[in-house]
Amino acid sequence: MDCPFCGIVTGRIPSKLLYQDDLVVAFRDISPQAPHHILVVPTTHISSLNEMKAKDESLIGHLVVVAIDLARREGFAENGYRMAINCGREGGQAVPHLHLHLLGGRQLNSSLG
Ligand code: AMP
Ligand code: ZN
Repeated sequence: MDCPFCGIVTGRIPSKLLYQDDLVVAFRDISPQAPHHILVVPTTHISSLNEMKAKDESLIGHLVVVAIDLARREGFAENGYRMAINCGREGGQAVPHLHLHLLGGRQLNSSLG
């Protein structure tokens, strides 16, 4: 499948990998919108939040917990950060493989849109 994040999960596409386990992979965003911009993605191809089922509840929790750990590890947890998951066209999702954005290291404005 021609999915860039599946390519990163398998190592076919290079990335600045920060964390990996059976369920998720975390790497630096190629076009960072903040001094720290990390993506956390499931290792299985799930195209968007709309594909999530009740059985995926713990996977979503794991994405968030891994992101919190990374914010601590990278040293910006105390100052604060933002997590965002874009879904679909109007949600601004460009890559059709579920991913959580973790942004930190600067003052983020309060606008969500
Ligand atoms: P979204 O608009 O929520 O789909 O976000 C997609 C994000 O993936 C953007 O912030 C891109 O900069 C990022 N991105 C796309 N391709 C890559 C890649 N090969 N490695 C790292 N980040 C990527
Ligand atoms: Zn994929």
